[in-house]
Amino acid sequence: MQFIETRGNDGEKSTSVTFSEAILSPSASYGGLYVPESLPALDETFLTKHLSSHYKTLALDFLLAFDIDIEKETIEEALKRYDAFDEPSNPVPLVGIEDDCFVSELYHGQTRAFKDMALQPFGYILSKLAQKRGENYLIMAATSGDTGPATLETFKNQENIKVTCLYPNGGTSDVQKLQMVTEDAKNLKVIGVEGNFDDTQHALKELLSSEDFKAELEERGIKLTAANSVNFGRIIFQIIYHIHSYLEMVRNSSIKMGEKIYLVVPSGNFGNALGAYYAKKAGLPIEKILIASNINNILTDWLTTGSYDLTNRELVLTESPAMDILKSSNIERVMFDKFGGARTKELMLELEVNGKYQLSSEELSSLQEDFSANFSDDTEGKIVIAEYAKKGYIMDPHTATCIKAYRELREKKLPTVIYSTAEWTKFSSTVAKALGHEVKDDMEALTWVSENADVSVPSMVSGLFSKPINHTVVVDKNSIKGEMLNFL
Ligand SMILES: *Cc1c(COP(=O)(O)O)cnc(C)c1O
Repeated sequence: MQFIETRGNDGEKSTSVTFSEAILSPSASYGGLYVPESLPALDETFLTKHLSSHYKTLALDFLLAFDIDIEKETIEEALKRYDAFDEPSNPVPLVGIEDDCFVSELYHGQTRAFKDMALQPFGYILSKLAQKRGENYLIMAATSGDTGPATLETFKNQENIKVTCLYPNGGTSDVQKLQMVTEDAKNLKVIGVEGNFDDTQHALKELLSSEDFKAELEERGIKLTAANSVNFGRIIFQIIYHIHSYLEMVRNSSIKMGEKIYLVVPSGNFGNALGAYYAKKAGLPIEKILIASNINNILTDWLTTGSYDLTNRELVLTESPAMDILKSSNIERVMFDKFGGARTKELMLELEVNGKYQLSSEELSSLQEDFSANFSDDTEGKIVIAEYAKKGYIMDPHTATCIKAYRELREKKLPTVIYSTAEWTKFSSTVAKALGHEVKDDMEALTWVSENADVSVPSMVSGLFSKPINHTVVVDKNSIKGEMLNFL
């Protein structure tokens, strides 16, 4: 399988690359992204064959069908990372909350958010590739709270990879911050930045485009790569759990093989939703993918009006911070698939120059064949959390945005899977507030919610509070470069 570019080719880069090349150097011509030339078929034969497969077996067969240039043994080793999830026999459990609504819980890995689903096996593969080539890579992450911990966790103690992780000091939950600053591997560096996530991300972008900095890295023999969801190495693992969730619905007799379901995806950078789109396109029986957002509802606008407009918006900080995103990277891959490279390049250029673009009505209709979208604000989210807590199910504020989409966007009464992208323990203060109790910090929230809602706190979360803090550096954005070079 070869990978091609969403904005066409500039005559300098190769017109198509292997999977390894696409994940080691994820930036394509004109600032575009890599996408697979085609997808393996998820037909009924494939699905039926995997009706009683283990998650890892399904994943292995899917990846082999993708025909990527990674050895089978390496893929198998990478997939063993799922053995460290809560229930190795089923890393992604499906839980019913209504007769026709099931939650697919993607958060049972080490850092309690769905980022582990892709980053865990991806981290292993990337590090193996770097070792095989005898190359050293630096991954620079900026995080609003979930990507950082998951990136550090997957690369800790992995050879030929170093990770620096910037977080906005005061801009994450206590648990998220502790997950980062208690990491103790030598190849990881965590730096707090004075400012909000935007400032942090901006500082990182400046550094990434600095010729000085690049020269310093080159001198040290270090190459740069990215582990965010512009990297297709993450997307490929985000197709698999949609197949798994469908098979779970067949296994629990909610549907018969071949019947269609809705998927509800709480979305920010659209990596999770893109995985669902590829699964649908490859043949998984999905009626539609329902996109849930918070008040930063640019995806709702895009999918209901065809307008993508950054000029009349400011990012609003919400209680579902992993979806506080205005520039959603992965919709570019959907547009390439539907409208082709020339049009995608034109639209993305318009966005860069004018801060907005408008799709034609035909283009919008084409998107609406696969997607529908709405959003919930924080108040609606907390009402949902309280409502389901009463029925005995505790969900986090990202997952809560799915409920309005489930209630209002379905055109048919088909069974529905909603995705839970984080465990409540990661956003316990918000959950406590939703249940009517103001707390001073996460420690108090975890205890209160766990006692009052009768849910347990996993040891990897409760244990954080007694771990030594290994990263105490908090700097202003002008000192980031120095800190990094010191570390390298
Ligand atoms: C990253 C994240 C999201 C958004 O996922 P995308 O793939 O970026 O759309 C939603 N919820 C949580 C908890 C996350 O960590």
